Amino acid sequence: QVRVRFPPSPTGLLTVGNIRSALFNWAFARHYGGKLVLRIEDTDTARNTEESYRYTYDALRWLGLNWDEGPEVGGDLGPYLQSERMDIYTDIVTKLLAAGKAYHCYCSQEELDQRREAARTAGQHSGYDGHCRDLPPEQLQAYVDEGRRPVVRLRMPDHPIVFDDLVRGEITFLPENLGDYVLVRANGYPLYPLVNPVDDALMEITHVLRGEDLLSSTPRQIALYEALAEIGVGSGRTPRFGHLPFVMGEGNKRLSKRDKGSGLTEYVERGFLPEGLLNYLALLGWSIAEDRDVFTMAEMVEAFDIRKVNSNSARFDPKKCEAINAAHMRMLPRDEFAERTIPFLVGAGLLPEQPAEAQLAVLHAAVPLVQERMNMLSESVGMLGFLFVDDAAFTIDPDAAAKVLTGDAGTVLDASAKALAGVEWTTEAIEAALRAALIEGLGLKPKNAFGPVRVAISGRRISPPLFESMELLGREKSLHRLELARR
Ligand code: GLU
Repeated sequence: QVRVRFPPSPTGLLTVGNIRSALFNWAFARHYGGKLVLRIEDTDTARNTEESYRYTYDALRWLGLNWDEGPEVGGDLGPYLQSERMDIYTDIVTKLLAAGKAYHCYCSQEELDQRREAARTAGQHSGYDGHCRDLPPEQLQAYVDEGRRPVVRLRMPDHPIVFDDLVRGEITFLPENLGDYVLVRANGYPLYPLVNPVDDALMEITHVLRGEDLLSSTPRQIALYEALAEIGVGSGRTPRFGHLPFVMGEGNKRLSKRDKGSGLTEYVERGFLPEGLLNYLALLGWSIAEDRDVFTMAEMVEAFDIRKVNSNSARFDPKKCEAINAAHMRMLPRDEFAERTIPFLVGAGLLPEQPAEAQLAVLHAAVPLVQERMNMLSESVGMLGFLFVDDAAFTIDPDAAAKVLTGDAGTVLDASAKALAGVEWTTEAIEAALRAALIEGLGLKPKNAFGPVRVAISGRRISPPLFESMELLGREKSLHRLELARR
């Protein structure tokens, strides 16, 4: 059975890079009917707060990337917070030491630096030189007597480490580039290169799909896996690895946490649909077909093949991300579209938490007017606000007023109000009355005729279709706004 994992550190907020890793693991697990394990890598407890854990769970739930084992859902191979597994790590390190797979290293930082510098000058590789690998017992005792506190290092094999990366193909690391590395600090603190593979082994992970930035740690992890297998920890099988291509941002530099557009929160606030964002992130390295960009998550799960992920770095294109989201906005059923705009309208103070029947009716009737025109849900505030705002709070965008409510605009508004006074309040009747009064009556071009009316009604130069909007707004409010704009 396929078992994959998503192991975020809860220190930062999720970035598009993290989410792409989570998505590919999720799609891989779902494709094979396997399990996705969520594990929180929080050994660095000082920086972690309750809130940051919550954030991670909520973010994954918002995205719809559900996990089968992990915090909040449980599972047989927990606990799933590394901070609750400290005893496990201590125990395993004891076993690795006893079996000679790892050893204590007493070198001080100064000694390491000195020897590294000397090696560099001599043109040799500058990783750890193995000084403490096989210390004679007297020397070891001497260090202990001096009061030195050792780190624990893994004894790396002296043969090349070769593996078939699911994305990049065969990769070879030579032993001279892989010094014995530190598993546990002198203060007893277990490090990522220890705890991550230990947990992967104990949680019986079969495939590790993660960013290319972690490629250099893979040979070390494979060596640790082999050592763990020899002391009987885990399933004994080394997982397959697949390293996902870098995501490049502005100026062809790797997208970093600090870059605009890199954090999930921004997408949530701007009203991206999770399925739109995920669809775009899937395109960072994968595609469903040559000529097709838009697909559902169900389609992705069905088609996902890690072997088809491209190893070239992917460019993050905010415009395309928006366009893909816009396509998903258009795909939503009308009622669902309406439902999803509500939190944004509530957030902007345009609707109460519990909208009234009449408000919901207007919202649902307005959806067909705006669905094709919106790229993200937050645009509902600008597009639909005029339908819900109180007369007292209604304002006209100053820029629109300056550009459109000038010259003959007053005449247009007066003529409109007069023409509309007695008409039946339907889109067709409103349109007919305004056309008769403004185009035929005043001899105006449509743009000059309806521009001022649009600004008066919606407060903006861009709005949903005018006559439909007026019908939805109602006679009384529409006439009132024509008058307001007159002043
Ligand atoms: N906690 C690590 C990170 O967030 C996990 C890396 C991995 O997938 O091995 O970068």
